[in-house]
Formats: sequence, structure tokens, C-alpha cells
Amino acid sequence: MKNSYDIIIVGAGPAGVSAALYAHRAGADTLVVGGESVALSKAEKIDNYYGVPKGTSGKELFDIGINQLAENGIDMEKGQVVSIEWTGDYTVKTPDSTYTAKSVVLATGTGRRAPKIKGLAEFEGRGVSYCAVCDGFFYRGKTVAVLGEGEYAAEEALYLKNLAEKVYILTDGKQPAKTVDGIGYIAKKLAEIKGEATVTSVEFEDGSAIETSGLFVAVGIAGAGDFARKLGAELNGNSIVTDEKCSTNIPGLFAAGDNTGGMLQIAKAVYEGAVAGSEAAKFARSMKG
Ligand SMILES: Cc1cc2nc3c(=O)[nH]c(=O)nc-3n(C[C@H](O)[C@H](O)[C@H](O)COP(=O)(O)OP(=O)(O)OC[C@H]3O[C@@H](n4cnc5c(N)ncnc54)[C@H](O)[C@@H]3O)c2cc1C
Repeated sequence: MKNSYDIIIVGAGPAGVSAALYAHRAGADTLVVGGESVALSKAEKIDNYYGVPKGTSGKELFDIGINQLAENGIDMEKGQVVSIEWTGDYTVKTPDSTYTAKSVVLATGTGRRAPKIKGLAEFEGRGVSYCAVCDGFFYRGKTVAVLGEGEYAAEEALYLKNLAEKVYILTDGKQPAKTVDGIGYIAKKLAEIKGEATVTSVEFEDGSAIETSGLFVAVGIAGAGDFARKLGAELNGNSIVTDEKCSTNIPGLFAAGDNTGGMLQIAKAVYEGAVAGSEAAKFARSMKG
């Protein structure tokens, strides 16, 4: 696989595959990075989508989409994106690869739900953060913790390691996907985030505690909201704000499907994917001159 593309599409559900087909047909060199669609795999029977009168399972529809990418010769990496940065071009990182692209389409589906831990919602913006790049600077020289068990938590912790005095990863009782040198791992179940004006400590179910000035939430894999916050894209709650061209307020960054809110249906995801893929191809062409 190459490392440089015109367009990288994050997500391989209906919105991502539709975006890829339209971008590819418009002549753009396109890469899709994504895993199984959690939403589709939960849908036992879909019988309200055009062309499937007898209905099909969500899993079957997802597999058809992935095969369609291969049949059209569109590159795909099965996996997750852990970070997207803009430095003239977009730099998109997975746990094992780094790619660049002129344009990015976010098609990651609905956002993650924050875990229900006592004190988490109460301290949002007062020590609880969802974005290391946005807020890490405020914790330089301090102790911070990252809540999460996967590659995304490791990426957030690595970023914070350059700023903070000490970084912990709190896995809330799970096995970490990987360990990183210099990061402290605590695999106990969390009980409560404590503090006064701001966070001061995290308490575990066994009664033990650690002192920390901040808690960065990075559970599971990064979602649209996480990427949008880091890139400065406008959000409405957890949905990405787009115009009629599926364009965000950041040049070259498009969004499609459930992650833009509204009707959470395949028909809307496919339509927005088609728009986003076509517009991303136009954008990439204009950047190449
Ligand atoms: C139980 C249930 C039943 C449903 N029934 C119907 C129905 O009958 N009809 C209908 O029209 N709709 C139905 N839906 C809704 C439909 O499934 C969604 O609207 C549709 O799947 C949205 O498509 P999407 O591409 O936006 O997101 P998704 O299908 O959620 O796909 C998101 C993609 O992004 C990937 N991704 C996420 N984060 C990352 C990351 N960090 N890096 C790389 N990839 C990432 C995922 O792996 C996945 O490939 C149902 C949903 C559920 C939950």
C-alpha cells in the first residue's frame, strides 16, 4: 500500500464506501481505513433501503460494501485511525502506518458514549477532557491520566508524555491493547473522579486512589467528535456541522453519515457519502493545481 493519497476516508460503513466509490469514479486516488460497522452489525434486518425488497441483514450489507471497494480497485486498510493532523496536507495515522492526503472524509458513524463513572460528567472542562492536543498544554509538569484501553488511549498518552510530569493509563479493569514505555498502567475498575474546583484524584473500586490533575477520556477507538475537536471542526453536540456539500469549516475536511446527525439511516449515509466523496475529489484536484 502507498503512503500518499488524494483522499483518505475514515470509516467503511455505508457513508464511507459510498464516498470512496464517488471519489474513485471522479479520478481521485482513494484510501479507506475502517473496521466493522457497529451500527450495521446490530441491524438484524434492513428492508427499508432501495433495492433490497426482501430485506437483508446489516452484516450482509456491510460485507457487500467492502467487496465493492475491492471490485473497484479501491485501497482499504482494515483497522482504525488514531490521529489526524493538518500540516498543509492531512496526516492520518493508524497504529502501524502513517498516510498523507489532500482531503479527508470522516464517515465514522455515531460517536462513542462516555463511560458512566461518578464525577466524570461533573468535572468535564474542569480536569476531564476529551482531547489531548486541545488541552494537554494546561497540564505541563503535572500528573495526568488517560482513561481507555486501546490504541487510541496509547496515542493520547504518548502526546501527553511530552508535556506532563507523569502519565497513567487507566484501563477500567480491561487488558491494554499495548503498553508504552514510561506510561504507568492501572487495570483496576474505576469508582469515582474526585476534586473540588478541578479534578484532584481518581478512586478505584478496591478503595485505592491516585492523585491526578486531569483525566483524558479515550475509551475504545477515536470517533468523529475526537477528530473534529483536534482539527478545530465545528460540532453540534457530538455531530459534525457540515454544509450542503458535506464540507466542514476546515478546508478539505468533509463528513458524511451518522456522524453529521439528523436521520440515522443508510439512505442518508449513502447520499452524504456520495456528496462528500465528489466534493473531496474536487478539492483534491484543486490542491494539485
Ligand atoms: C439496531 C439497528 C438497526 C438499524 N436498522 C436500520 C434500518 O433498518 N434501515 C436503515 O436505513 N438504517 C438502520 N440503522 C442505521 C444504520 O445502520 C446507520 O444509519 C448506518 O450504518 C450509518 O452509516 P455510517 O457509514 O454513517 O456509519 P457506520 O455504519 O456506523 O460505519 C462507521 C464506520 O466507521 C468506522 N470507524 C469508526 N471509528 C473509526 C476510526 N477511528 N478509524 C477508522 N474507522 C473508524 C467503523 O469501523 C465503520 O466502518 C440501524 C441501526 C441500528 C443500530
